Order: sequence, then C-alpha cells, then structure tokens
Amino acid sequence: MTTLGLDFPVFEPGWVWLVGAGPGDPGLLTLHAVNAMQQADIVVYDALVDDRILNLLRSDAKRVYAGKRGGRPSSKQTDISLQLVDYAKQGLRVLRLKGGDPFVFGRGGEEGLTLVQHNVPFRVVPGITAGIAGAAYAGIPTTHRDCNSSVTFVTGHGSSGEMPDNINWAALAKGAPVLVMYMAMKHLRRISSELMANGRSGDEPLAVINQATTPNQGILISTLANAADDVEKAGVEPPAVCILGKVVDLRDRLNWLSPQDDVKAVRHVPFEQVLDLITVPSDPTASNY
Ligand code: SAH
Repeated sequence: MTTLGLDFPVFEPGWVWLVGAGPGDPGLLTLHAVNAMQQADIVVYDALVDDRILNLLRSDAKRVYAGKRGGRPSSKQTDISLQLVDYAKQGLRVLRLKGGDPFVFGRGGEEGLTLVQHNVPFRVVPGITAGIAGAAYAGIPTTHRDCNSSVTFVTGHGSSGEMPDNINWAALAKGAPVLVMYMAMKHLRRISSELMANGRSGDEPLAVINQATTPNQGILISTLANAADDVEKAGVEPPAVCILGKVVDLRDRLNWLSPQDDVKAVRHVPFEQVLDLITVPSDPTASNY
C-alpha cells in the first residue's frame, strides 16, 4: 500500500479532545474528528450530535449523553466540565463531541478553561459551524462581494435563556450587513423589532434554516418584518439558524441542493468505499466510482 504521508495525532490516555462534529451531515466531519472517534475510550456528546455520526465511534467506546434537549434532564455546564476532568484523571481518552464548532456558541471555551485549571492536557478540533453550513446548504453565501464585506454571528439566547442584554442592536442594525443568528427562534419577534427600531428595513430578506444539512432540513424565506409570524405559521422548530441580509436573495440562483427537476439526482456511494479510495491508493488509476 502506498502511504499518503498524512500523520494524525495519537489520542493519549488522560487527554481531553474538544471536537466539533459539524452541523449534522456526517460528510461535514473533519478527518481529525474521525481520527478522534476511532481512538476515544469515552465520548461525552451533545443533543445536536447526529446518530449517524455516533456510529463512527469505536464500538466499545463508552457513550455519555450531556445534552439539553429531547425531554431528557439537562446537565449543568460545570458538571460537564468537571466530568471531563474526572474521566481524564482516570486515564481515559476523553472525547467531548459538540455540534458545529466547539468554540462557536458551544461553551468549548468554558470547558477548556476548567481543563486548564485542573492541568488536564487537551486539544481542540474545530468543526463546521451551523450558521455557515446551513446558509451554504440553502444556497446562501455568507459573504458576497456585491453585498457585504463583513459577517456577524449573534446569539439570541443568553445563558439564562433570556435575550442577551449585552447586544448593541443599534450597532448591529447599522453596521452588520449580514447577521447569522443562532438560538434566535424563541426571541425572533423581539430581535426583529430591535433591528427595525434601529433603522433596519423590514423588507430585508431573512432565511430560517432548521435541521440544516440533515435529511430533515427545512428552509423558510421571509423578511425581517414577517419572519416571526411566518415561523409561527409554519411551525418551524429549533435548531435553526437565521440569516439576515441581501445575500439571502442569491438563493434564487445558487440553490444547488434542490435544483430543477431536469438536473440528475445525486448518486451516493457507501462511506466504506470512500475510505477505500483514501486509504488504498495502491493502484491510483483504479476508481470505485
Ligand atoms: N457550536 C454550534 C452552535 C451551538 S448553539 C455550532 O457551531 O454550530 C445551538 C444553536 O446552533 C441552535 O440553537 C441553532 O441556532 C444552531 N444549530 C446547531 N445545529 C444546527 C442545525 N443542524 N441546523 C440549524 N441550526 C443549528
């Protein structure tokens, strides 16, 4: 077998790896994430981590659910961080698997700080964040030369569940041409009102993408003024990201995921076959496709 010359880190016992699992589609995992899943002894995972992704774990890895959804009891953030410390001190390879990117509204920083405080060595594996991937799967680029030269990530939820009180809505309304909003569903009406009260046009297009990149992805296109009503009428459920800005209009032309009927349906191959292509390039001219 020819080697590719790609070396991946060995997961040493007593370490914690804070790993982003991406927004749902297993194809959006990084190779570092797959490497982590193949080596970990124990995984502490969130509600937003897709089951199809958990299937990539070593079959004997212990699974610990630390999510906050689905009617199951929620785990307190400090408890989770200390649990990670505990498992690491037991000499386990501890994988903390989080939806999207661990450092984007994912509390990865808090967990990292606790690990530092307890002298636990750790590694961070970034993931594809839901705001960018959700927009892309809806055919919306988060930046586009004719529309915006900055993009802003905002959360609609503080740690208490209320709208965060440290957001300068006036500054965002005036200075943020594209807003990518996480956890914004509960307070969407108030968020829209704040933005409009501070001069943002109610006609501006707003996209709501829920369960982005999963087979259940839903997309609602509305305007800043109508979004809260439209979301309510359509019964859109979280998790969802909202994209506000002119870039949303590009979806008319860039909606690659569900194009016209006359475009051929996408063919799929099993992941095992993709892995063969990556790991067994003994005959580089051979193709499994
Ligand atoms: N660390 C994550 C964000 C966690 S906060 C990341 O980088 O993506 C949780 C919020 O993320 C949800 O309320 C929702 O706004 C967004 N989110 C996560 N996964 C999503 C998905 N598949 N589709 C739409 N929104 C998602």
